[in-house]
Amino acid sequence: MQQTVGILGGGQLGRMLAHPAALMGIPLLILDKGTATPAKQVSLAPSPHQAHPDGAFTSPEHIRQLARDCDVLTVEIEHVDAAVLEQVEREGLCTVQPAPGTIKLIQDKYLQKRHLEQHGIAVAPFDAVPEGATVDDWKALEARFGLPLMVKSRTMAYDGKGNSPLKSLSEEDIKHTMGTLASGGKKLYVEGWAPFVKEVAVMVVRNVKGDVKSYDAVETIHKDSILRVCFAPLRVQGKGMLDVNRRAKELAERAVATLQGAGIFGVEMFLMEDGSLMINEIAPRPHNSGHHTIEACETSQFENHLRAILSLPLGSTALRVPSTAMLNLIGTSDSMQPITQAVQVAYETAGASVHLYGKTECRKGRKMGHITVTGDSDAQIRSRIRPILQAMQDLDE
Ligand code: ATP
Ligand code: MG
Ligand code: MG
Repeated sequence: MQQTVGILGGGQLGRMLAHPAALMGIPLLILDKGTATPAKQVSLAPSPHQAHPDGAFTSPEHIRQLARDCDVLTVEIEHVDAAVLEQVEREGLCTVQPAPGTIKLIQDKYLQKRHLEQHGIAVAPFDAVPEGATVDDWKALEARFGLPLMVKSRTMAYDGKGNSPLKSLSEEDIKHTMGTLASGGKKLYVEGWAPFVKEVAVMVVRNVKGDVKSYDAVETIHKDSILRVCFAPLRVQGKGMLDVNRRAKELAERAVATLQGAGIFGVEMFLMEDGSLMINEIAPRPHNSGHHTIEACETSQFENHLRAILSLPLGSTALRVPSTAMLNLIGTSDSMQPITQAVQVAYETAGASVHLYGKTECRKGRKMGHITVTGDSDAQIRSRIRPILQAMQDLDE
């Protein structure tokens, strides 16, 4: 009998987990509000008697019921109730992968940074912002880290929504940052600005047995703190840039080795001018910088996540193509039109695969889908993606 996998969250990552699950005959139960979330749309519940649970993925009662109904519980989002996950595992209702403690640690980006630093892993300098910080507190932080200060929410952050660069200590700027981030008494921390030359990400997967594999490093390009484009393999030239791929993979594997549990992890990094690498943050789940692995690698990040949590051997992480790019389809307003235009061009582009997530409402900043393009060379990839980017008026990258 195949083990049933329960997923907290029914968004696009769940949707992309559902594809290999269907191929491998793995029964899924997806917990999210509504009956037609992106993941539920593409996955039938395992039997006529067992529908996907309809409830918030943060709801303790729903999580407990799901834990009773599945063998292994996993997450497509880290903003879940980690204490309940700890409980259901303690009570033996099911296993949880990755470990609830890992999810809990990662949820608080400040604690995550402290953990990495304590394990000797390079991160940008950082510290907590005192509650009710005064101008003097901000001045003290400025004296240590300089300007701009990257101010971040400790919890519930995604797609840059918990970040606000503080460019000066003027009353107006401080008020703006606090207004953006600290509503509802959210705890904050700051990071010194990292003047990176590139952003890099590595997906690392570890199965229950402890076997580890990592994918080749990719270059990620963000705009307004949200991932836009991802290129693989990573190419960098210049002094100190030798072996960046190998070093990025080693650093990512070392960081993941400090965390408990099985599954795939997305490790975001900054590549500095001297070739050194710092970790920005880690996601304990499939990650946007690994979407290209569906078309461009021997085994996708989604399949490898399922293999990892089900104690199966890990699949090869090797690239199958010389070059690839992934373009996010992000809403610019409530109109799908720019995305529809880009998709139309993609259908006419050799090597392009269209992914639309089935979200009914388009909103500014919302990830509606992505396009992966594969090709024989970087030059070919660039010429293939140009018209697509043009169609969504996103060419300033
Ligand atoms: P995600 O959607 O990846 O979870 P997030 O909301 O958790 O994102 P971060 O990963 O902390 O946000 O930051 C988003 C982006 O902001 C980074 O990818 C990078 O481009 C920029 N950034 C973050 N921290 C710094 C820093 N210390 N210095 C300079 N730029 C930064
Ligand atoms: Mg994050
Ligand atoms: Mg990030």
